[in-house]
Amino acid sequence: MTVASLIAWVNEGTALFERTVAGMDDAGLEAPSALPGWRRSHVVAHVAYNADALVNLLDWARTGVPTPMYSSPEQRAEDIEKGAALPPGELREKLITANARLGANLAGMPADAWERQVRTAQGRTVPASQVPWMRTREVWVHSADLAAGAGFHDIPQGVLEGLLADAAAKFSTTPDTPRVSLVATGGPGRWEVGTGDSAVQVAGALPDLAAYLLGRPLSGRLEPAGPALPAWL
Ligand code: ZN
Repeated sequence: MTVASLIAWVNEGTALFERTVAGMDDAGLEAPSALPGWRRSHVVAHVAYNADALVNLLDWARTGVPTPMYSSPEQRAEDIEKGAALPPGELREKLITANARLGANLAGMPADAWERQVRTAQGRTVPASQVPWMRTREVWVHSADLAAGAGFHDIPQGVLEGLLADAAAKFSTTPDTPRVSLVATGGPGRWEVGTGDSAVQVAGALPDLAAYLLGRPLSGRLEPAGPALPAWL
């Protein structure tokens, strides 16, 4: 995947997220999201602050001065609560401004800065070229989490395959994860998940396989329904 095509996924997913938010009235913004304990305004605040956090990583790569995504996990959670409590107009504006700022920073990144190492909020050291993929995951998955029309079926196939690969890699090192073979119906895809002894084979459409691994509601169904998995992040 080239950085340019990752940035195209970011832009496309950002447009979907913004369209979905624009389609809600102020009361809709306060309705529950698909994420436990989060209203839609929490999801919007998180996506806006995540854009700021990723600008920090791009700054870090460009300048060499370590600027972490968030000053602490507590700060991250506090910002989301504060952002969700903003008047709706301010929260909407915060989202648009943060997205535009990240977009400008992605577009203006010097070519030689993409390979510089930065550290994510999870403590992984990665090249800055991972930042567009990190944002791709956020905007597409959280568009579905808004529970306002957008869903995993809107996510491009390449993004779904990336999500499945990420989640499968993560679950291959998570203790006590049941072993599951995921088979995409109507496609060549196959993903092995988990660390248990005997594998269950589960078949379904790509969007439903990804939703299952990420612990999101399915729009279709899996055959058979897979065993419960640990939370993915
Ligand atoms: Zn997120």
